[in-house]
Amino acid sequence: MIIRLSKSVLSGQEVEAVQAVLEKEFLGMGPEVMAFEKELASYLDLPTTAVSCVNTGTSALHLALQAAGIGAGDEVLVPSLTYVASFQAISATGAKPIACDVNLDDALLDLHSAKQYLSSKTKAIMPVHYAGHVGNLNAVYEFAQEHQLRVIEDAAHAFGSVYADKKIGAQGDIVCFSFDGIKNITSGEGGLVCSSDPQIISHIADARLLGVAGDSMQRYKKERSWDFEVYHQGWRYHMSDIMAAIGRVQLQRFEKEFKPRRQEIAIYYRSKFESMPHIRLLNSDVNSVVPHIFPIRILNNKRDTIQHALQAAGVGVGLHYKPNHRLNFYQSDNAFPNTERLYQELLTIPLHPDLSASDVEHIVDIIKNYN
Ligand SMILES: *Cc1c(COP(=O)(O)O)cnc(C)c1O
Repeated sequence: MIIRLSKSVLSGQEVEAVQAVLEKEFLGMGPEVMAFEKELASYLDLPTTAVSCVNTGTSALHLALQAAGIGAGDEVLVPSLTYVASFQAISATGAKPIACDVNLDDALLDLHSAKQYLSSKTKAIMPVHYAGHVGNLNAVYEFAQEHQLRVIEDAAHAFGSVYADKKIGAQGDIVCFSFDGIKNITSGEGGLVCSSDPQIISHIADARLLGVAGDSMQRYKKERSWDFEVYHQGWRYHMSDIMAAIGRVQLQRFEKEFKPRRQEIAIYYRSKFESMPHIRLLNSDVNSVVPHIFPIRILNNKRDTIQHALQAAGVGVGLHYKPNHRLNFYQSDNAFPNTERLYQELLTIPLHPDLSASDVEHIVDIIKNYN
């Protein structure tokens, strides 16, 4: 592959930060995680009591649902067009993910579809900020309030995106990010839960460490609890100091390097594709979104042809995502006309900060040829 679809963008700074942790010979959850949480909170304009770092985005979602009291017998509304992580996090609690359709123009949760599948068991809604876009997030919160649902935002794609003048994570009920290798920032693997509800975060601070009450504060001091108490189910979902050391450097580089480069590439792509009749762009507010992926819709049944042409030219492409209702474990009788259509039309083309100007021109030229 000559041009990669996505990649981690690392420098000597991340290497040095990891080396410094290794030299301290303390590899678990400790002062680096505490510092990362402090810096993330400051970046998002939140108090440190509103954030908790964990080992993956999936565990962030799982813990968020558990902390919100979602469990066996409950239902959670979620778009079918998302990574299977969203669905697995819901079913991990014992609750049932209820697959909904998405809008054709932005690939985000369609609230008309969600409304159809409300029941007395519905306890939460999980909007997915596909490609970094949030659409009309206000409408999701109004819907949730009307039907008394918790909102757990899958913001795995949306680190750095802004909605109504505030960063995603700085507002809302419970917001979960992923820092896996290819996300907007990475800590190797990793995740973050943000919530304005301090009970959610204090639950998660314990639940990520097997439910051992108050263990997080001990570990920040490189100590641990020996005579401890457990009040609820927990997991081994905490973040390690090695991960946090990578994440801290990435966060520092984000505003100056990663965010502007991602936005610049997306704006360039949009300017070129806008006038191509066989390409349809998803709605996006380019100035407030930090795009994580760049999916385009290819009309007139040309998707597979263009996909193969790009691959033959050494360009990495992706399909975000195989809809969950098509997976054996999550089959559904609900209706998914827009999701099905997008599944035939979508193709994700490369987007990461290391792409060069000639890379993106090359990609655009290949696609233009199939006009
Ligand atoms: C990456 C991702 C996740 C899960 O994050 P991990 O850190 O990989 O566990 C969840 N939802 C979506 C939409 C994602 O892209």
